[in-house]
Amino acid sequence: MIICQACGTSNPDDAAFCSKCARKLDTATQNAVAQQRAQHTATGINWSSVVIALVVIVIVAAALVLVVTHVL
Ligand SMILES: [Zn+2]
Repeated sequence: MIICQACGTSNPDDAAFCSKCARKLDTATQNAVAQQRAQHTATGINWSSVVIALVVIVIVAAALVLVVTHVL
């Protein structure tokens, strides 16, 4: 899918001109943007997973402290 940079209309991948405003579609730029976006999502850190992992670590540490203080 190619988004027209002039009017924002979605056009098919093989379209050379926008179906709405007839502006020439820059397929090379669109492909580069799509690739950058794909790479960004592939290498980007999933922060919600990091937060969940930290919360689990804190809960486990707190449970360990409770167990140790009760045993001793
Ligand atoms: Zn257009």
